Amino acid sequence: MNVFVCAKQVPDTSSNVRLLPDGTLDRSRMRTVTNPDDLAATEAALRLKERFGGTVTVVTMGPPQSEEMLRELLATGADRAILVTGRSLAGSDTYVTARVLAAAIRKAGFGPADVVLCGQQSIDGDTAQVGPELAVRLGIPQITNAAAIEADAEGLTVKSLTDDGYRLVRAEVPCVICCRKELNKPRYMNVSGIFSCYGKPLEVLGLADLDADPELTEQTVGPAGSPTACLVTFAEKPKKRGTVFEGSERKAAETIAAALRDERILPAAKGGAR
Ligand SMILES: Cc1cc2nc3c(=O)[nH]c(=O)nc-3n(C[C@H](O)[C@H](O)[C@H](O)COP(=O)(O)OP(=O)(O)OC[C@H]3O[C@@H](n4cnc5c(N)ncnc54)[C@H](O)[C@@H]3O)c2cc1C
Repeated sequence: MNVFVCAKQVPDTSSNVRLLPDGTLDRSRMRTVTNPDDLAATEAALRLKERFGGTVTVVTMGPPQSEEMLRELLATGADRAILVTGRSLAGSDTYVTARVLAAAIRKAGFGPADVVLCGQQSIDGDTAQVGPELAVRLGIPQITNAAAIEADAEGLTVKSLTDDGYRLVRAEVPCVICCRKELNKPRYMNVSGIFSCYGKPLEVLGLADLDADPELTEQTVGPAGSPTACLVTFAEKPKKRGTVFEGSERKAAETIAAALRDERILPAAKGGAR
């Protein structure tokens, strides 16, 4: 089983987040990190490789500086990396991104016993659409919200988070699994991994290399080929400072209950007491 991991380099939201006058993120001031769900997907892929053999290939579509992220993932144990980049791809929405990633994964030799692991969602775009769209593009089943993955010779059993609990889903390979960050604790790079990552293959592909999908052209990628458009971006106003109720737990609970009655969030107490 060979595993393909889709990973995205995202702005570190714990650093300086600022918007430019045109509403886009001022990325020049922001540090970048690997999207947290994608680190969990990479760790899951490395564990599958340790148990069943095969290779781990990390794939990203992004600006040239995404290569730093790919080198880090190679240093943690991935075997090869693919960067799909180009000016015409910038501004692509999830529809185009999934299509480009599917073409790159096909070109990289995706086979009938292989698996694609994605993050559930990115912390910047945050749509959670790329994984499911990728499964549709590759014509294979998908399992989203993976919080645990068990594998055996016949396939995979995934514990998938739902609104009111978990469900166990069984899937045969090939399939796409969208991973949540609570799936595992990603390993750190070690010194030998950092040295060896520079000798591992990192392929840089452009649009012209994606011949697995002949319909991918300058006209069908980037803003021109993207059916979604972002109309406005704005920073949320800071919330009002909350109220702190001092005193014993009982006294604080009574004060909070009275405040909620005043706001008619709780019904009035019997006998008119507050
Ligand atoms: C030159 C260039 C510049 C770009 N600039 C930006 C930018 O400024 N902002 C931006 O958000 N995007 C940028 N992209 C990438 C692309 O537009 C977005 O990745 C895409 O719209 C994904 O949306 P999302 O973040 O909502 O994904 P989600 O659906 O929330 O992501 C779910 C999962 O899909 C996978 N995934 C998503 N995007 C990628 C990707 N690009 N590569 C590999 N795996 C991925 C990850 O596993 C992720 O956890 C750029 C791409 C290129 C080529």
